[in-house]
Amino acid sequence: RQGVVVITGASSGLGLAAAKALAETGKWHVVMACRDFLKAAKAAKGAGMADGSYTIMHLDLASLDSVRQFVDSFRRAGMPLDSLVCNAAIYRPTARTPTFTADGYEMSVGVNHLGHFLLARLLLDDMQKSDYPSRRLIILGSITGNTNTLAGNIPPKAGLGDLRGLAAGLRGQNGSAMIDGSESFDGAKAYKDSKICNMLTMQELHRRYHEETGITFASLYPGCIATTGLFREHIPLFRLLFPPFQKFVTKGFVSEAESGKRLAQVVSDPSLTKSGVYWSWNKDSASFENQLSQEASDPEKAKKLWEISEKLVGLA
Ligand code: NDP
Repeated sequence: RQGVVVITGASSGLGLAAAKALAETGKWHVVMACRDFLKAAKAAKGAGMADGSYTIMHLDLASLDSVRQFVDSFRRAGMPLDSLVCNAAIYRPTARTPTFTADGYEMSVGVNHLGHFLLARLLLDDMQKSDYPSRRLIILGSITGNTNTLAGNIPPKAGLGDLRGLAAGLRGQNGSAMIDGSESFDGAKAYKDSKICNMLTMQELHRRYHEETGITFASLYPGCIATTGLFREHIPLFRLLFPPFQKFVTKGFVSEAESGKRLAQVVSDPSLTKSGVYWSWNKDSASFENQLSQEASDPEKAKKLWEISEKLVGLA
């Protein structure tokens, strides 16, 4: 049978490109889990995805109720779940004041980490019921959360500290909106921190569930896709110069189509079944198992993050 893959944030950029790449193989039915139904419908049509190769379902990761409603709707639709890709993200690089999710958590960590954390935990049950030969749960990582790279050393650097801000609920007003508890808010750092959370969560899922369930847990850095909507809140000059800078100076640039193929490989390539891995690609577009920074691979921190996140999303 066809595999069924849920991709969050499939209405643009990497998520859309991967949705298209997987649907085109004819081997996958793609559930596009998106906050803006019409935008997703237009994006799928605009990308040339064939009718019937995808289903759009509403999911707003900035609301834990919406995450639970998505899971209910998905279950009512009666499809199996073979793979889940936690791809959606927001990036507010110039923000100096926080915004908050429906549940009152700082938006970058709320959407990128907490919404996905709840989604992944709930849908694990569904994935366990699937008889698909290779089930995979993938969470997008990033080089920017990895301080063992050049890009990861551009200030402000990612760092979760002792997670005191997260433990206090990332509320902002009477506490901190930053995971490490800093008083001042920095949108660029909040994004990078959320990506460390994504990579730590993938590894903790691997430690807790891989042996018992056989599910493959993976993360990846698809390359710098300098043209996606992720940079929409950046200053105009940055948006103008970033793609050519990545193309000609760092040579780290990848097109949306190429990044979509990379993510599609992590979902379906028979050679990428190893669990607990953070995939990257070299200049010849060959995949390799990459090293995470010390913090992004710290098991103690992953455990602590898991326990605090469970409380914040109402699982504990
Ligand atoms: P885009 O901004 O193009 O896509 C992000 C997607 O997330 C959009 O579909 C957006 O929806 C969706 N989204 C945002 N907020 C929510 C929400 N509250 N609920 C549901 N969906 C939401 O960015 P990219 O394609 O570049 O990013 C995709 C992933 O790749 C991210 O996880 C990012 O961290 C990662 N990544 C990107 C890199 C890059 O260079 N671009 C590099 C490394 C990693 P909408 O269309 O409605 O806005």
